[in-house]
Amino acid sequence: MRLVVGNDGDAPLEPAVEPWAGTHRILPGQTCVVVTHSPAGDGSWSGTSRGGEPFRGGHRRDSITVWACGGCFHIDDMQGREIGAAGWNCPAR
Ligand SMILES: [Zn+2]
Repeated sequence: MRLVVGNDGDAPLEPAVEPWAGTHRILPGQTCVVVTHSPAGDGSWSGTSRGGEPFRGGHRRDSITVWACGGCFHIDDMQGREIGAAGWNCPAR
């Protein structure tokens, strides 16, 4: 599953990807893609508040948090190049 995160503001944005506490700085005008893969053989998602949710997003005053419900996360640029990851349990890469 892929979640596009863009920074439409005028200051750098540093989303935290939980539960790995991964971060990536997105400069104004830039966009990245948070990718997670399901660890389940049937492709299901455990969800954060109920099943079937691959992502959950949250916002605080000066930061955002993306909860990825897969077994890994990757941060790709818009061309699909990986620029960050916690992929040691990745079932797909
Ligand atoms: Zn993965």
